[in-house]
Amino acid sequence: MKQILPKLTNSFNESKIIIDYYNMIKKIILVDMDGVLVKEPTKEHEEEKRRKMARKGRKETDPNPDEHPIHWSEIPDIFLDLEPIEGAIEAFIKLSYHYDLYIVSTAPWNNPSAWTDKQRWVDKHLPIAAKKLILTHHKNMIIGDYLIDDRFVNGVDKFLGKHIHFGQSPFENWYDVLDYFDRKTL
Ligand SMILES: [Mg+2]
Repeated sequence: MKQILPKLTNSFNESKIIIDYYNMIKKIILVDMDGVLVKEPTKEHEEEKRRKMARKGRKETDPNPDEHPIHWSEIPDIFLDLEPIEGAIEAFIKLSYHYDLYIVSTAPWNNPSAWTDKQRWVDKHLPIAAKKLILTHHKNMIIGDYLIDDRFVNGVDKFLGKHIHFGQSPFENWYDVLDYFDRKTL
């Protein structure tokens, strides 16, 4: 990625003014978690968590859970152990030099542990994004120039900036996304 940061001077005050100015004019990229930064659980991981849930006697809200098992995202304590998607961490850090990045994710309403697990996941895998995590069911309410998201739900379809549809051509993976932003900074 081409270096577009300003040349710093020897004066601390001048440098600080320049850095503050560039931070001010950086475009904003919002990044989804599940399916973009975070991998879905493996089948084994999901089954283990389901067994744990059953042992603790946690009831599913569905009256016929055998016919309609809850989605993996509603299994308690499942988010913290999920692995990052290939290239995601490196790409997030690289893009942070040139853009102002925030994580915008939806935590399932019926899974309270997901809300804290998502914050703990950021601390564990992406501490550069500490305090830049926004959890919402209304992503269209968040201001940004770009939103990198693998789906259209939770307000993505009404987002006012550009939706980078992760997982679909031409943004099939993080290398494609970096190529796209590379071209923008040339
Ligand atoms: Mg997603």
